[in-house]
Amino acid sequence: MRKTLLPHLVCPGCSGVLALTIDRAEEEWIEEGKLTCDACRKSWPIDRGVPDFVPRDDRSDVQQTTSGFARNWDEFNKVINAHQALNDELFRDWILPLDPEQIRGKLVLEAGCGMGRWLRVAASYGPRVLIGLDYSAIAFTAAKNLRDLPDVHIVRADILHMPLKREIELTYCLGVVHHTPDPARTFDALVDKLADDGLMTVWVYGAENNGWIHHVVTPLREKVTSRLPHAILSGISTSLALVLYGAAASYKLGFEKLGFPYADYLRYLRRYPFKYMEHIVYDHLVPRIAYYLSREELLGWVSKNNVFFNLTARNGNSWRLLVSRDRTRIPDAADPHSAAPGAALRT
Ligand SMILES: [Zn+2]
Repeated sequence: MRKTLLPHLVCPGCSGVLALTIDRAEEEWIEEGKLTCDACRKSWPIDRGVPDFVPRDDRSDVQQTTSGFARNWDEFNKVINAHQALNDELFRDWILPLDPEQIRGKLVLEAGCGMGRWLRVAASYGPRVLIGLDYSAIAFTAAKNLRDLPDVHIVRADILHMPLKREIELTYCLGVVHHTPDPARTFDALVDKLADDGLMTVWVYGAENNGWIHHVVTPLREKVTSRLPHAILSGISTSLALVLYGAAASYKLGFEKLGFPYADYLRYLRRYPFKYMEHIVYDHLVPRIAYYLSREELLGWVSKNNVFFNLTARNGNSWRLLVSRDRTRIPDAADPHSAAPGAALRT
C-alpha cells in the first residue's frame, strides 16, 4: 500500500483512526507493516503490500467462493489482460446508464475487485483515488498487477466490515453481491459507505429467465462442482464451453431465426475467444454461493435504503442497478418507493 491510502481507512470495528507502522518499504510502496486502531487497539497486518483485514483462520463458504474464483483468475490473467479493448467495452456495458466519464476526479470504490481487471479499466478514466477491495487472497495478485498505478489501492476485507470512511463518491460492484451469503445485507453495507451525493452501480444475476440454472445448475453446483478439485472442474468447463461455443457459433450461422433460446446472451457471448468462454463456464460452476435475484427483491433493497434508482435488464437475464440518495445524480431516476413490485423483466 501507499501512505496516500491511510486518510481513507478507519477501524472496521469502531471506526477509530488507524496508525501506520512500516516494517519494510521500497520508496513509496509499503510492502510489510501494521495498522493499529488508536481507539480499540486492534491491529491488522500489511502483507505483500496489502492491508489485510480478513481473519487468517477463515474457512467459510465465503472464502471458498472467493478463492474458488481466484484459482481460475490466476490462470486466466493473461487471457483477460490480452483483451483490454473488450474489457473496456464490457465495463461500459456493465455500468450503464452510468457514463464512465463520471469516474474522473472522484473517490471510487470497486467492491470485489478480484485480480484487478476492472480497476485497470476504471483507472483509465482518471479517478482521484481508486480503491479495490476483495475478500480473497487474489487481493495480493491485484496489488502486484496494479502497482504501476499510483492512485489505485488494494484492500483485503469483508464488504460487511469495510475499513473505509463514509465518503465514497462512486462505487461499482460487478458480479459480486449475488456471491455473498446475504446479498441484501451486502447491498446495505455498500450504500452505507456512500457520500450523501455518492453514486453506486451494481450488476447481479437475475432470477428472471434463468429458471433452468436455478433448477439444474444450482443443485449441481452446490453439491458437486463447487467441491471438485481445480483440474477436474477445468476439464468439465472446457467440455461445456465447447458446447456453448458451438451454440454461439450456430447462432452466428443463423439459428436466431429458429428461435434458439437465450438469444440475447448468445449474441453477447459470440464475440468471446474460446478461452474466455471456458472462464465464464468455470465461474458459474465453482462458487458455493450464488443467488439469482428478482426485480422484486432489488426493489425491496432500494426501498429499504431509501435511495433513488435506475434499474435495467442486461442480456435478458441479469440486472443493472444504479442508486443514489441524491435524485439529481441518477438519469431517469425512480422514487425509492414508487415502483410497482412484480412487474416483468424489462429489456
Ligand atoms: Zn477500533
